[in-house]
This record gives sequence, C-alpha cells and structure tokens, in this order.
Amino acid sequence: MKKAIVLGSINYDIVSAVERLPVRGETVKSFSTEMFVGGKGSNQSVQISAMGMSVQFVGLVGNDDMGKTVKQALTGKGVDTGCLKVSDTFKTGCAIIFVGPSGENMLAYAPGANHGISREQIEQGAGSIQNADIFITQNEINADAMRLGLTAAKEAGVPTILNPAPAIPLHDELYRLIDYITPNETEAETYTGIPLDSLPFAEWKKQSARWFLNRGVKAVCITLGSNGAYFFDGTQEYDVPAFSVSAVDTTAAGDAFNGGFAYGIAHKLPVARCLEIGNACGALAATVLGAQNSIHNIGQIKEFLRERKIEI
Ligand code: ADP
Repeated sequence: MKKAIVLGSINYDIVSAVERLPVRGETVKSFSTEMFVGGKGSNQSVQISAMGMSVQFVGLVGNDDMGKTVKQALTGKGVDTGCLKVSDTFKTGCAIIFVGPSGENMLAYAPGANHGISREQIEQGAGSIQNADIFITQNEINADAMRLGLTAAKEAGVPTILNPAPAIPLHDELYRLIDYITPNETEAETYTGIPLDSLPFAEWKKQSARWFLNRGVKAVCITLGSNGAYFFDGTQEYDVPAFSVSAVDTTAAGDAFNGGFAYGIAHKLPVARCLEIGNACGALAATVLGAQNSIHNIGQIKEFLRERKIEI
C-alpha cells in the first residue's frame, strides 16, 4: 500500500444558512447551522485515504471539544492521526461561515492551532517520512513548519507537492524544495504577477509555469477550474481538459484534485494520467454540495474514468 504524509490544516467549520447576510449589529434568521470538518490539509488527506492509500496526517488541534470532534472525524475517514497533536496553548482552527440564499457568504477564520505546529512534531513525523511515497502540504499552516516538513521530505528523497493556497509570499529558498507546485489560476496570478488577461491563455500558462521553474520548482501544475489542468516541467507540457459534469458546488474541488494527483505521483503513473485522476477527483467533488462529504472513493473514481475509456 502506498503511503502519503499530509502536513496541513484542520478546522472546525460552523456553517449557518441565513435568510440574508447580516449588517453591523443585526441579528438575522438562520435556517440551519451545521458543523463540518474543514481545512485544506484535512480535505486532501481524506481524498488520498479514499483512494485506498495509507495517510499519516501531521497537524495540530486545540485541547477543546472542537479538536476532539475533528480528530475523531479524520480518524473515521481512515486517516492515521497519530501525528495530529493536541495543543494546550492554541485553540482548534475554526471558521464561522454565513451563507445567504444565493450562495453569497461571509466568514471569520481563526487559524489557531494550525499556526502552532512545532519543530518537534515535524521531527517526530520525519521518522515516517522515510518510507512515504508522497509528501504534500499547503499554506494554511505556519511557514516554518511547512519549510521543515518540505526539507525532511526532500532529504528523504520523497516527492513533494506544495498546494500554495492561500497565496502568501514564500521564502526564496522554499521553491527548490518543491517537486510539484499546484496553484489555481488566481494563486498563479498572485505569485507571478502575470494577469490572466495580459496574454493569450496558452502563453499565460507557460509563462506562469516558467516563473515557478525559474525559482527552483521542478514541475508546475496549474488547476484551471472547468478548463481542467495544465502541467509544465520545462520539457513535458500537458493540457488536460476537465471532465464535463454538472457542477453544483466546487468547494474542495481543488483539494480533491490535489489528492488524486498525489495518488498518481505516489504510484509513479505517467504525468498525463496523474492529471486525469486529479481532474476526475475534482470533477466528481464539484457534483456534490459540500467539502469533505463531496469526496469520492477509488471505486467511484475508477468507474468514472472507465466510463471515459481510461483505466487506472
Ligand atoms: P480551486 O478549487 O482550488 O479553486 P479549481 O477551481 O482549479 O481549484 O478546481 C480544481 C480542479 O477541479 C480542476 O482542475 C478540475 O479538475 C476540477 N473542476 C473544478 N471545477 C470544475 C467543473 N466546473 N467541471 C469539471 N471539473 C472541475
């Protein structure tokens, strides 16, 4: 069984469906308030686990009820949470989200424990990095933890993926630790400073990818929403269109893509196939309302691909 290490964020999301978004000082009627497990790290680990891989999650929650709930939920999805530690200093990361009748939203997010991941935790997790097939992380945790994790994976010769979301400035030395970087279009624009509308699309994709390659990243995969995904490593270039589905909610589509792409890389599949698997995971996630509950399993992904004459 292939093994992934996911170093990342995990949140307690409180989502309230309101009759309309409140203004300052106002109380509005809520139709329902529900709790979900969120965080890019936890979403990606759930997709990778659903692909039938063994997943070790490295992260931090607070010593509170929210922490217990999200840890239990992740364990319930088959993810190894032995390295998901409990902090006595920080609270569990939490987002409070209001969603209006047309899907418009307002949110307040406290990263809490996601920004308190310690060197000791990474060092402890590093023991299992040695025998991992893929390492993946994102920008929702403290930058030093991300750097230490990428460094440990790189030293162990494990392929690394950085999903650079949200787009925040990265230290120059970080880029050479990244084998695959997976921004979406907006993130790519923010990093490179090359606006999408400043060039013909094909040129934009290649120039944006070159920006990352010039900084030491080995390969770039830009996710393009309903346009699929683009890959360039300086030699090989692939443009893989999205699968046509009736999308209802693209929340977590990017996380699902990253999970599927990580599965392909861990299994040393050809890059074009990795992109197709990522696209399948992303497309299927877009067909269901919600985040982690929209993630499909390996059987469903294989069937979806088989119907489109692709065998994995
Ligand atoms: P993010 O959710 O991070 O903004 P994208 O919007 O680029 O990321 O979506 C990630 C992937 O999910 C895309 O590369 C694509 O494979 C898939 N996807 C997203 N939206 C759609 C859609 N409307 N139809 C089909 N696939 C989609």
